[in-house]
Amino acid sequence: MRVHSRRSFLKRALMLAPAALPLFPATAEASPQSTELEGVSDLHVHLEPDIRPRSDNALNYVRLCRQAKMRSVLLKSHIFPTFDLAYLIRQSVDFEVFGGLCLNRQYGIRAGVEAVRAALQCSGQYLRCVWLPTLDAVHQRGRGGIPVLDTYGRVLPEIVSIMELCAQEDIMLASGHSSPEESLILARKARETGLTKFVVTHANTAGWTHSADQVKRCLDAGAWMEYGYGWEFLRNGQDASRPCDRLVNYIRLAPERSFVMTDMGSPSLPHPLTGMRLCVRNLRESGLSPAHLSLVLKENPAALMKLS
Ligand SMILES: [Zn+2]
Repeated sequence: MRVHSRRSFLKRALMLAPAALPLFPATAEASPQSTELEGVSDLHVHLEPDIRPRSDNALNYVRLCRQAKMRSVLLKSHIFPTFDLAYLIRQSVDFEVFGGLCLNRQYGIRAGVEAVRAALQCSGQYLRCVWLPTLDAVHQRGRGGIPVLDTYGRVLPEIVSIMELCAQEDIMLASGHSSPEESLILARKARETGLTKFVVTHANTAGWTHSADQVKRCLDAGAWMEYGYGWEFLRNGQDASRPCDRLVNYIRLAPERSFVMTDMGSPSLPHPLTGMRLCVRNLRESGLSPAHLSLVLKENPAALMKLS
């Protein structure tokens, strides 16, 4: 499925949402004693600076995360690097903020090995994730997209080099907007290179929706599974009181190899911190056990960020 259809699906989903949508504050509010986000990490959140409006800027968001006693965050931008931004934010906020880079056209029309090599050496070394092409992925863009496989379906040499770099530094390589079929091939090759942190990106989200069988094959290939709460929230008409059983079912396939993030930051959605609060409550009320909740929101993301 191409992403333009995902976009129209998203638009439809928004139009189908009830007329009286719940109102969310522009910044996340919680009682000062609230500890529900203590120890939680969000490894996929979109903030400003960006080329499109976001519900907050990265600095303010990280300050709020610190107040909420969260453990860490990984800033994502499709366009700009965020590992250097993480370095700067850390000069004023004492918090485990990390960044990454998406291998889109800003780094060339083929995946940029040298961009990854340089990113690994940036001050502070806060690079924790390389996303394979997202907005410029072949699966999204079609012709003219940045390939990850050759015409025979083999992983391209530059992608293998990037896998080797990520393996050496023990950082995440995420499938980006690759198709489920491409992601499985990538996961298998990643394991061959010794990379232990290959992540299948938002496997529950339209455009990349994996069947249970596809998830199992990725897990067998040693991949981590990333699931986005934001998409489930949209599917449920932005009503967090409705159970998110679908997400719970995904998690239960392998909680020890999964994590949940918000993928929020769009101004049409709750502020990402509010989104994470809704995520915690929604998953708990949908029957996810405290042990599994802790794995997918605390322990696994912290391990992926190389936090002990
Ligand atoms: Zn995203």
